[in-house]
Amino acid sequence: GLPTIYIITPTYTRLVQKAELTRLATVFKSVPNIHWIVVEDAQVKSPLVTKFLRSTGLNTTHLLSVTPPEVKLKEQDPNWLKPRGVLQRNTGLSWLRANLNADYHHGVVYFADDDNTYSTELFHEMRHTKVVSVWPVGLVGKLRYEAPILTNGKVTDWHTLWYRRERKFAMDMAGFAVNLRLILENSLAKFDITAKRGFQETGLLQSLGVTLSDLEPKAKMCTEVLVWHTRTEPAVIKNEDKMPANGYEQSDPNVEV
Ligand code: UDP
Ligand code: MN
Repeated sequence: GLPTIYIITPTYTRLVQKAELTRLATVFKSVPNIHWIVVEDAQVKSPLVTKFLRSTGLNTTHLLSVTPPEVKLKEQDPNWLKPRGVLQRNTGLSWLRANLNADYHHGVVYFADDDNTYSTELFHEMRHTKVVSVWPVGLVGKLRYEAPILTNGKVTDWHTLWYRRERKFAMDMAGFAVNLRLILENSLAKFDITAKRGFQETGLLQSLGVTLSDLEPKAKMCTEVLVWHTRTEPAVIKNEDKMPANGYEQSDPNVEV
């Protein structure tokens, strides 16, 4: 049958969370054979995410993985930034290895952050990935888009300004998908929480033994943007505190937002 698309999404509690997850679910619902693995950055499963996932009717798996409050910095590496979503993605990879078998399960693995914007076409492009598929990502790297650069139909370089020479796979998390078998057969491959931000993608693909020649360009030979690295503004609710002084009641805490 149709290969399954395993989508791993790290997520954390904040005011915009349900809106973000709703935007993703709306797209995922119109794509067949999706298995959505949602990994909450929390100690316990939140009622909001639990109820939301159930309500989508999608095939979902709800997991937990807490990011430690402090990421230890070595003295010689003062510029390490706090990683976002790294341990959660690894928890998703562990779940795949514990629950799927390459003899029975065929598909592709995609890391979909909860704040990006995904087109349905993106998933049709990635579904038949043999090793690793790649495509452009819009609104990232302080450019209009970042993209693989092709020579004679093969990826030879990267359209990006940021660490172009230092990164073997100089693309965003949203810019690639990996065949499930590759994930299952390289059981130690994972994201490295100590890696500098921006080096997560390269680290994972190197731990999977991927080379440039393995990359399969999608989205009209990497000329079409089908996913956008959008970032949602934090919600501002400072008028709640002013409501009582003005003779009004604050928003009903029983109403889920
Ligand atoms: N995330 C998380 N815990 C955090 C911060 C972020 O699980 O403390 C998730 C977030 O929901 C998203 C992913 O990690 O799915 C990447 O985070 P973000 O979009 O903030 O990173 P950026 O796009 O700024 O690199
Ligand atoms: Mn983001």
